[in-house]
Amino acid sequence: MSFEPVIGLEIHAQLLTASKIFCSCSTAFGAPPNTHVCPVCLGLPGALPVLNRAAVDDAICAALALGCAIHERSIFARKNYFYPDLPKGYQISQYEQPLATDGEMDGVGIIRVHLEEDAGKSLHEGFPDSSRKTYVDYNRSGVPLIEIVTRPDLRSAADAAEFFSRLRALLVWLGVNDGNMEEGSLRCDANVSVRPAGSEKLGTKAEVKNLNSFRFLQKALEHEIARQVDLVGDGGRVVQETRLWDSAAGRTVSMRSKEEAHDYRYFPEPDLPPVVVDAARIQSIRAAMPELPDARRRRFVEHYALPEYDAVQLTQARSLADYFEATVAAGAPPKLASNWIMGELARKMKEDGRTIEGPPLTPARLAGLIALVNAGTISGSIGKDVFERMIASGRSAEEIVVADGLTQIDDESRIVGLIADVLAKNGDAVAQYRGGKMSTFGFLVGQVMKATAGKANPKRVNELLRRALET
Ligand SMILES: [Zn+2]
Repeated sequence: MSFEPVIGLEIHAQLLTASKIFCSCSTAFGAPPNTHVCPVCLGLPGALPVLNRAAVDDAICAALALGCAIHERSIFARKNYFYPDLPKGYQISQYEQPLATDGEMDGVGIIRVHLEEDAGKSLHEGFPDSSRKTYVDYNRSGVPLIEIVTRPDLRSAADAAEFFSRLRALLVWLGVNDGNMEEGSLRCDANVSVRPAGSEKLGTKAEVKNLNSFRFLQKALEHEIARQVDLVGDGGRVVQETRLWDSAAGRTVSMRSKEEAHDYRYFPEPDLPPVVVDAARIQSIRAAMPELPDARRRRFVEHYALPEYDAVQLTQARSLADYFEATVAAGAPPKLASNWIMGELARKMKEDGRTIEGPPLTPARLAGLIALVNAGTISGSIGKDVFERMIASGRSAEEIVVADGLTQIDDESRIVGLIADVLAKNGDAVAQYRGGKMSTFGFLVGQVMKATAGKANPKRVNELLRRALET
């Protein structure tokens, strides 16, 4: 019997506000422990939360981009549980009336987007020996999060990882999340079950918690799907439980079963009024949103006549798409700009560990180089050399080409003269070519290019060499 996996994701994303969701403490990452704290985020008695308007705006922006309906009125609730990193004994979240519901991305339904506060962080030392200690850092306590819950519409581990990756790109594109998974800005829980192929009935699901990379999500799901298929195939049954991914062991392990599951005893947060969002506010957030990746990709195909592949690559990040459009605005033909950005520029940035946010040369400078190659002033291969020299020296392409005498040799009489020299020195190769060994042609082209340090126009060399050999 074959089985089909059914996967839904719950993604927690930190919103990029300067201050926390219910107090004015900084959200900056990396400060010394317990320096970004106050009575509110430490949960001291009598301290009262005040909602951060910017966090609500960011959450609305994300929910709109995910096609959700924003509710005019939503309610904060207390989610009660005990853990040392949660000093109040409850987390302020949204439960029955979330901010937004019923969206969709890439064919995957979005059940809800709601606002909540993050907990602090426990730091364990000396485990598992007897000198163990646990410290708590409350800098994260009260950092604003959105939780995005998908429908169980994903059918493979690879699709789930791809979706998570696309969602990350969207949130970063919108400027509401920094996408930094190592610092915990984006985390994913996955609900997974298996059922006989063709069956409509859902199997019992397990939840795999706290996956902080696309690779871990995929690996954890692959393992969990295989575990459940083995179990059900052997006549067993899946237990509804929470599991953790042990990346060192390469398997999921049980954390707690349903019987031990928390009863969160949700109730409306009495210290916060309902969140009321009117149509004008939604309209102004929508108006300020950047053009979304899919729309921009379609525009790149239609407006710049780029191939779909190029448009997909160039819209992976907003800053990359901006760089491309700035290069075109500076005069570069779109397809050539795309080739240079995805080719030489991407290679160079990878080599130097740079990102497009700090490019090695400006779009205008790149457009200047492309113009010289496009006009035939320099050859494509010299262009790559000039590109390197631009980055090393900070000079423009024009300055380098003039100062270093790199102008392409296009002059017919000069190329004909060079060809005559090469043919005279390579009598054997010429005889072989004339005897039918066509592959020596490439060798002879290479010799002519070498004689000009790559500066001859290769197209002209090809034409003139063929003419010289065939007369
Ligand atoms: Zn605080």
